[in-house]
Amino acid sequence: MQNAPTPLHYRIEIGDVHAHLFRVTLTIARPAALQRVSLPVWIPGSYLVREFSKNLQGLQAHQGARTPVPVEQLDKCSWRIDCSPAKSLVLSYQVIAHDNSVRTAWLDAERGFFNGTSLCLQVQGQEKTPHLLELPAPKNIAGWSVATSLTARKINQHGFGTYVAADYDELVDCPVEMGAFWSGAFRARGVPHRFVVAGAAATFDGDQLLTDVRKICETEIRFWHGDKKPPYKNYLFMLNAVDDGYGGLEHRNCTALICHRKDLPRLGESKTAEGYGMLRGLISHEYFHAWNAKRLRPAEFESYRYERENYTELLWFFEGFTSYYDDLLLRRAGLLDNAGYLKLLNKTINQVMQTPGRLVQSVAEASFDAWVKYYRPDENTPNATVSYYTKGALVALCFDLTLRSEGRARGETRPATLDDVMRALWLRCKAGPLREADVAETLQAAGQRSFAPELAQWVHGTGELPLKALLEQHGVAVLPEPAQLAHRLGLRVSESQGSVQIKTVLRGGAAERAGFAPGDEWLGLEPAATARRKAPSSPGGWRMSQLDDLLLYAGEAQKVFALVSRDKRLLRLELAVPPDLTTWRLAVQDAALVDAWLARRT
Ligand SMILES: [Zn+2]
Repeated sequence: MQNAPTPLHYRIEIGDVHAHLFRVTLTIARPAALQRVSLPVWIPGSYLVREFSKNLQGLQAHQGARTPVPVEQLDKCSWRIDCSPAKSLVLSYQVIAHDNSVRTAWLDAERGFFNGTSLCLQVQGQEKTPHLLELPAPKNIAGWSVATSLTARKINQHGFGTYVAADYDELVDCPVEMGAFWSGAFRARGVPHRFVVAGAAATFDGDQLLTDVRKICETEIRFWHGDKKPPYKNYLFMLNAVDDGYGGLEHRNCTALICHRKDLPRLGESKTAEGYGMLRGLISHEYFHAWNAKRLRPAEFESYRYERENYTELLWFFEGFTSYYDDLLLRRAGLLDNAGYLKLLNKTINQVMQTPGRLVQSVAEASFDAWVKYYRPDENTPNATVSYYTKGALVALCFDLTLRSEGRARGETRPATLDDVMRALWLRCKAGPLREADVAETLQAAGQRSFAPELAQWVHGTGELPLKALLEQHGVAVLPEPAQLAHRLGLRVSESQGSVQIKTVLRGGAAERAGFAPGDEWLGLEPAATARRKAPSSPGGWRMSQLDDLLLYAGEAQKVFALVSRDKRLLRLELAVPPDLTTWRLAVQDAALVDAWLARRT
């Protein structure tokens, strides 16, 4: 007996590596009379309309013995084909793939990569039927393999052949990596995991990477399920190592990552470099998303609408809480010590504290507005917005430490923690859509009181978080640390080739009061007279080539005249240099208390 033909069959060929063209042939076994097809405008996990159709070209349709049928474009991303429903419909088109990110598609002589959102038209009305993906082995390229988390139906030893997805959502949630990549494997909780790396140098230490990633996976599976298995049969990491790039995108049983080539672990190196530490944090983050974002997910994302923005107020939970746990679980996996963890937390706290927008926008608003604000940053972003990643992580920290403190005050030997809340949400929401009310009620059950005031203030409000008091309750000293000069002035600058360019003028800072504007070039300065020092002798002014020159030429002067170029005009701005501003430095004060929070598995 033969299998019935799969309703939808995508054949994706490596068209021309030098022209960066994938060739796609889509066969629809049973089309509608006026069949509509469309290409997504965004990819889940990255909240920006990216208009993937801009890279699609040459769309043609035919039926039977190559009889052309008319294709009408309806809008920027959808088409209608006037065809006969009695016969299968074949669409063919090409996609330009030259964006070396995890979000779209790439093809050159070294490597191919794509997300289904960039290459696979959505067949309206048939989204829930099985989708077959055929990847024929390229004729003129030797040594390439395929890595994807799609279910293989019939493939050769290099992975070329056919794969099947249960529906369109699964098809576009399983990106495909092709090339002569490094590949390694391990089991975590008995579940097969594969890790492929493209673009690594010969110094890359694959064994070290696998050892560490396995610890991360074991720790996260145990976090969610104790001794039970995770909610997937296998998992794939696809890492692209490049000269300059960093990021990741989560999927249901895989993740696409990009990192600096120099951040990979190196053979013969015993100490963990900072860049590799960051990469492990990224891996931990994307893996945690397999639970928190891909299964537990905003109720608004129960089914994705690919043709427009999908709004949710909950990214503070899905990105922020994931950001809290990415480093914390590295600590629990033994890949960070307490001091190392606190250093990373310190960085997050100072980032949020140096963002005036935290007093303007709540993390719930930041989530909703991600499409036009977080993903479209400009010079005013720090003044008007807050990151739902960093502040969201601190909100998670505040809930966790509050639960622990209050449980301890009640005399409980094992107080409920945020870990318990996460696991309870997993069960309550049946690993599916989540609403804020679920979070509120689960917190209430764990903490034996309503957390409505905290949700109102921390998530929907713009006041400061009670970080200092909570950290001190858990054995962490919060010490003052002299702020960097840029922070004291309220500026973000870029320095290159002996020039200081003003990128951002922070709200309420000294630079704003002096009249600096984004785009200014800060050329030089004239120190003003002080009580201890007379006005400088002629010429009295100094050319600046970096911000720190201010300290050299002005010393302790509290007032200088800044010489600034704006639109080719030279301006002289009176700048009052604020005396010592401080930031925070976290340190372990009570090791037992810190251990109880960071090291103990709950
Ligand atoms: Zn994330």
